[in-house]
Amino acid sequence: MSRTLFTSRDGGDLKDFARRESLRVDLSMDHLIFMHQTHSDLVLVVDGSEGEPQCDALVTRSKGVALAAMAADCMPVTFTSEGVVGIAHVGRVGLVKGIAPKTVETMLGLGAGKITAIIGPSICARCYEVSPEMYEEITALIPSTATSSDLHSLDLQSGVKSQLESLGVAVKDVGICTLENSDYFSFRGGDLSARQAGIISL
Ligand SMILES: [Zn+2]
Repeated sequence: MSRTLFTSRDGGDLKDFARRESLRVDLSMDHLIFMHQTHSDLVLVVDGSEGEPQCDALVTRSKGVALAAMAADCMPVTFTSEGVVGIAHVGRVGLVKGIAPKTVETMLGLGAGKITAIIGPSICARCYEVSPEMYEEITALIPSTATSSDLHSLDLQSGVKSQLESLGVAVKDVGICTLENSDYFSFRGGDLSARQAGIISL
C-alpha cells in the first residue's frame, strides 16, 4: 500500500531543510528524498542513501523511503504500483522531454505491474498562457496540450495524461490550479522561490 501526499502553503516552503526534516519526522520515514531539479529527463532509482540527487524523477522499491518533487505551478506527478513507487517534476520542458513516460519505463524495468499516476496541484489550462510562438511549438510536439490559438494557453495536464495513458497508465488529476487557489504556492502568482511538494512512499 503506497501513501501519496500533496502539500500546500500550510506545509511551508519545502526548499527549507528544517521544514523537510520535520515533514520526514511527521511521516515517520527513514528518508525523505528531494531532488535538485533542473527540468531534465533524468530518472534515478534510489534507496535512501542519495542525499539530494540532480534529476527530475525518482523511483524506489525501498520501504521507509519517501520521494518528493517540488513545484509551484509545474506538475508533481506520483506513480504507484505493486512494490514500486515513483515521482516526477513535470513542467513544460519536462513534458516535452518525456520525463513522465521515462519514469514509467524505469518502474517497469524494476518489475512494476499496473501503474496509477496522480497529477498534483499545478497551473491549469485556463491560466497557463504562453507566447503564440511557444504555443505553436509545444502543441505541434504534443497536440493534447492545445486549448485555443486565441488564448494560447497550454494544457500541461492533458499533455502528460496522453503520454501516460498511451503506456497503459491510469491517470488521476487532483484538479487544483495553483494560480487560482491561494492555498498553494504559485510561481506565476508571485511565489518566485517557495515550493510545495508531491510526496510518495511505499
Ligand atoms: Zn487555473
